Amino acid sequence: MPALNLINVTKLFGSVKAVNKLNLEIEQGECFSFLGPSGCGKTTTLRMIAGFENLDEGELYCDGKLFSSSYKHFYLAPEKRNFGMVFQAFAVWPHMTVYDNVAFPLQIKKLSRSEIQSRTELALKATSLTKEAQLFPGKLSGGQQQRIALARAVAINPKVMLLDEPLSNLDPHLREEMRFEIKELQTKFGFTVIYVTHDQSEAMALSDRMLVMKEGVVQQIDNPLEIYNNPANKFVFSFIGLSDFIPVMVKDRKVFIEGAMENGALQVELPNTLNPALTYDIACRPGEIDFASTGITAFVLRRTYLGDVVDYLLKIGNTEIRVQKTRREAIAKAGETCHIKFNRILWYDHSEETTSKT
Ligand code: ATP
Repeated sequence: MPALNLINVTKLFGSVKAVNKLNLEIEQGECFSFLGPSGCGKTTTLRMIAGFENLDEGELYCDGKLFSSSYKHFYLAPEKRNFGMVFQAFAVWPHMTVYDNVAFPLQIKKLSRSEIQSRTELALKATSLTKEAQLFPGKLSGGQQQRIALARAVAINPKVMLLDEPLSNLDPHLREEMRFEIKELQTKFGFTVIYVTHDQSEAMALSDRMLVMKEGVVQQIDNPLEIYNNPANKFVFSFIGLSDFIPVMVKDRKVFIEGAMENGALQVELPNTLNPALTYDIACRPGEIDFASTGITAFVLRRTYLGDVVDYLLKIGNTEIRVQKTRREAIAKAGETCHIKFNRILWYDHSEETTSKT
């Protein structure tokens, strides 16, 4: 039985369809991310799952039990859902010690003293806050304050943990470290995680599967590798990585980069599934383009060292593309021509809309 099941879930704010007919099953113990640009409906979806927003259409089940239904006008109150929640702002109570911050929700639930103590101590230990238990949050770093929020959510022993951009107030280094801590907590306690972020690398690092959304509509649901390697459309391709699309021309099923013709002849034919009468753009991840001794001719506009990775800006025909290689593979120099080979080509309809990132 799935941990969560959303059927046809829709949410309107006036004329804005914040979430539009969302169908989704999240498995028990899965780490599932909602990814997409600002305003695409991630937080609204999470708030509907939490019970803070009603559904204008659809139903939501948790462990097979009905939690929300627009048809039956039924909504289980948020506090009865027993979901752990951590949000962007460090929602810690500054006048309470770390220990009391974690124990307080358990007192509200009227658990026994010994239960409160054992759950609080376990949650503090799991989040490495045992030594800080008697301090006030103001004395702690941003990372430690966010750990208090995590400890508090862990202590209620939730089956599902809802995390909405929980790391976005932290510096990049700490942010990366905390990803692993969240993953460790999940492994240790076995809860299902729903993680909202607009940071694709965070989603990819944490998730078993993820959903990419645009304007309230699901674009793709899959595991991170599949979404990276086989994006469903131009929007997903450009949201998860760089957004270089290369217009091509097709002659007798042979494919040429527009503006480069013979110098830009691809070593592949148009796939049989595609219609030669239409126009296409190709796309290739920056790591899937190799320098070669023959092949498509390109001009190196820029070469930038980014530590272990070397980032290139190349011009082929009328198009500029990015290529990223390790230092050992970075043989082409700025201001020179080179030859390249595309390893994995993705094909998209030229007329399909791309998007800018936010
Ligand atoms: P962000 O990453 O910026 O938090 P998001 O993907 O979480 O964005 P939502 O906050 O879910 O997006 O918003 C989806 C859409 O619904 C947006 O157009 C937003 O303006 C609108 N919206 C969200 N909450 C409300 C509200 N309470 N009243 C009116 N419109 C709202």
